[in-house]
Amino acid sequence: MAISTCIKCAGHGFELALLTPIGESRKLTIVQCAQCGAPAGVMDPALGPQIEALTRQVAAIDERLSRIANALQD
Ligand SMILES: [Zn+2]
Repeated sequence: MAISTCIKCAGHGFELALLTPIGESRKLTIVQCAQCGAPAGVMDPALGPQIEALTRQVAAIDERLSRIANALQD
């Protein structure tokens, strides 16, 4: 697998940092270069609950598929 490289300083170390955008009260978690601080990505805090909801939906679909498979075997 390729090694992630900072586009500014070519460093290979990254860290999580909290950043409050100007005019916002909510902090964002960003991935930044550990050497120069150049941001490499943002972790959206709204994604956690959305992923949990999708996980529940997939589990429900899986359960229904199991019931259909069982009904077909009978
Ligand atoms: Zn860097």
